Amino acid sequence: MPLPSLKSQFSQLISLPSISSVSPEWDQGNLNVINQLAEWLTELGFDCDVRPLESNPNKANLIAVLGSGPGGLVLAGHTDTVPYDEGKWISDPFKLTEQDDRYYGLGTCDMKGFFPLLIEAVTAFDKSDFKQPLIVLATADEESSMNGAREIAASGAPLARYAVIGEPTGLRPIRMHKGIMMESIRVQGRSGHSSNPALGNNALEAMHHVLVDLLDFRTELQAQNSNPAFKTAVPTLNLGHIHGGDNPNRICGYCELQFDMRLLPGMCNETVRNTLQQRLQRVSEQQNIDIQLQSLIHGVAAFSEPADSELVRMAEKLSGHSAEAVAFATEAPFLQQLGMQTIVLGPGSIDQAHQPDEFIELRQIDPCVKLLQQFIQHICL
Ligand SMILES: [Zn+2]
Repeated sequence: MPLPSLKSQFSQLISLPSISSVSPEWDQGNLNVINQLAEWLTELGFDCDVRPLESNPNKANLIAVLGSGPGGLVLAGHTDTVPYDEGKWISDPFKLTEQDDRYYGLGTCDMKGFFPLLIEAVTAFDKSDFKQPLIVLATADEESSMNGAREIAASGAPLARYAVIGEPTGLRPIRMHKGIMMESIRVQGRSGHSSNPALGNNALEAMHHVLVDLLDFRTELQAQNSNPAFKTAVPTLNLGHIHGGDNPNRICGYCELQFDMRLLPGMCNETVRNTLQQRLQRVSEQQNIDIQLQSLIHGVAAFSEPADSELVRMAEKLSGHSAEAVAFATEAPFLQQLGMQTIVLGPGSIDQAHQPDEFIELRQIDPCVKLLQQFIQHICL
């Protein structure tokens, strides 16, 4: 059966809902997208391996291989999308809408749309041309747990020598991003009547000391670490959510704070977390109250591919842009763990990702297909 046209592939992928979310009421599987991609890639001569996630059998990664050899190229993308704002879209998020030289739809730019483009790029070659393998990696759950990429990394097998992740970067090569951690601090005190402080142990007052310490810690981290390649050159710590107590005339018995931290390449999530743990221990002793630090998500490490790696050089030459740093996290650290030189480079703009009326500009399509063909030509042929 011949492959559908590029536009029809776009339209079919957008019509298959594959939202991933840490909120169970939004979370969906991605098998529909994975199976569709496997069907098209099989048609092109790829050997397709659909691997259900150990953490969730309704989700799967796809590893599709064309050719063999010790080197080769991985073109990687995630098959899930974020949830959408009901009522804020002009068009139906699950129906591809072409207007103003753009394709609108959920996942057009972030990033189901990358797959039709790489399929288009591959059709220019003959299967017998490949001297090194071309591998398409389609993952699950990038927008939530990153469990798809985590399981690929845990499986341990190097897939190829190079990996290009097609997240929306306006076709500019990206070789650095910050890590991300989301943490919660829970202060457990004791409530009691407000008229006599001795009746309780005020969690809100202890949280005040936690907050002071946390902001001091941030100041120290920012004084010690900076990287001018990033728009926000320092590591960040954002206080995002706090809740404690119930009534003005009751001693606050429990208080919880949630925050995120985004560390620079070269900084280690675990090390920073351990230091934080020790500092909180000190506050806990000084205030004589129970303080627990708990991770809300499995963190993602910061990512940095050396400026002089072969892949960075190749990408700079082929794209005509110097490699840059971005503010968003990707699956790159997990692919790099497998020993692959890794960059992020794909069509569309991150400004349109995670927004109502997400779109990709049609003028990005041809340059992206040509660029992917050049990568394939250089690495696989
Ligand atoms: Zn994405």
